[in-house]
Amino acid sequence: MKELNYDILIIGGGFGGATTAWHLANKGLKILLIDSKPWNRIGDKPCGDAVSKEHFDNLGMPYPEGEQLEQKIEGIKIYSPDNETSWKVEGEGFEINAPAYTQRLLKEAQNRGVEVLDLTTAMKPIFEDGYVKGAVLFDRRSNQQLEVRTKLVIEATGYSMSFRSKLPKELPITEELDEKDSDIAYREVGFTKDDIEDAGYLKIFINQKASPGGYWWYFPKGKNKVNVGLGIQGGMGYPSIYTFYQKFLNDYAPDLEKEKLIVKGGALVPTRRPLPTLAWNGIIVVGDSAYTANPVHGGGKGSAMISGFCAAKSALNAFETGDFSANSLWGTNLCYIERYGAKQASLELFRRFLQKLSDDEINYGMKRRVIREEDLLETSLKGDFQLSVVNKAMRVISALGKPSLLFKLKTVAEYMKKIKEIYNEYPSSPEDLNKWKARVNDTLLNFDQAIK
Ligand SMILES: Cc1cc2nc3c(=O)[nH]c(=O)nc-3n(C[C@H](O)[C@H](O)[C@H](O)COP(=O)(O)OP(=O)(O)OC[C@H]3O[C@@H](n4cnc5c(N)ncnc54)[C@H](O)[C@@H]3O)c2cc1C
Repeated sequence: MKELNYDILIIGGGFGGATTAWHLANKGLKILLIDSKPWNRIGDKPCGDAVSKEHFDNLGMPYPEGEQLEQKIEGIKIYSPDNETSWKVEGEGFEINAPAYTQRLLKEAQNRGVEVLDLTTAMKPIFEDGYVKGAVLFDRRSNQQLEVRTKLVIEATGYSMSFRSKLPKELPITEELDEKDSDIAYREVGFTKDDIEDAGYLKIFINQKASPGGYWWYFPKGKNKVNVGLGIQGGMGYPSIYTFYQKFLNDYAPDLEKEKLIVKGGALVPTRRPLPTLAWNGIIVVGDSAYTANPVHGGGKGSAMISGFCAAKSALNAFETGDFSANSLWGTNLCYIERYGAKQASLELFRRFLQKLSDDEINYGMKRRVIREEDLLETSLKGDFQLSVVNKAMRVISALGKPSLLFKLKTVAEYMKKIKEIYNEYPSSPEDLNKWKARVNDTLLNFDQAIK
């Protein structure tokens, strides 16, 4: 078998992997990025393709432009299950052409020295002396196996988790996904019969019958093109996602021209707190494989970018010291938790609460503005659901008489605060990880009991 040596191997060229490569390029390191897909399909995966502008700003990444940008977004409209209430939440973003943008990042990284091999799959890790030391690859163009030896592997394999899942199970980096902490999602992209009104606004429809534990979306990609789809909670034994799609499509996208579809397909999104550690000896995990998507709305492109940024920063530090142990790469966790992970943990609790609400309760809450749009925005931006908001809600609810909802809201706010505090006390080195994990797991168990 042919043997090659690199400083870093990045497995997967989606948003997570491409961002990591983009930040690592031109820093004097020998880097190889591989993806199983052919070049022109890298970045092409089932997705709603909506990304908030703040992620690009915060990470110093280029905005999508030209063919990479399909629609500038001004905000989101959220509709109640009975369609009687709609909330408008302002916030700039982009409806992107994901393959075009991802390939742009990869090309820029390539121009600055990163080698990119398409049609190449990581088959298994090389794991020696407690360290990941590379991977065995299969190159479909030459039909041959390659052994790539590295100082660091960055796994960005998306929801397939196809590399870290082959590492010894006792490593905390292999933690598996409970299906209930995922959404199964499906979307189609096609043309509309008429011009879309208000194309600058994404539409989200909440309805527990049409999308249990998730929501329907209608995301304009220009005046007469739309990305329409839905997510439902995984692990619940619901009928197939496609059954829901066919049954309710007309309610949410009656203007979609079914005969003129551009693309269709489904995939899974993790909707939980991040992996307990993104780093171990010789390896960092980013993106969906590290469970970085937002637990409430399932958006994962922005946070895949954040994790890629943190991975790159931590990798550069490790190359300065020549130490690739979990301890040395631990900064990835601290960086990611500060920027997004703590908020994710708190939003996981909010998601668990929302999934238990009935359509009636959601109609009621939205109509009476038990929580207001601004509070919802605050919650989704920061993962804080302030007790002051609950106190205001308490006055409304107690006047109208819904004591059980009131009690639950208060509990949710308290637990969201608590879990954020636990994340702010994330251990500074791997030794204390198990103790910290036990605190997180206890809090999740107690929360589920409390909102039963
Ligand atoms: C239907 C749906 C709608 C969504 N809508 C949105 C949205 O509107 N906005 C948003 O921000 N997020 C959305 N998400 C989530 C978002 O798509 C993901 O969070 C994000 O794309 C994850 O990026 P990633 O780089 O981690 O993984 P991916 O984009 O999945 O990339 C992984 C790459 O790794 C490659 N790969 C895997 N295994 C190997 C291997 N062994 N060897 C070589 N290559 C390998 C794959 O070919 C792939 O290119 C949605 C998800 C779904 C399913």
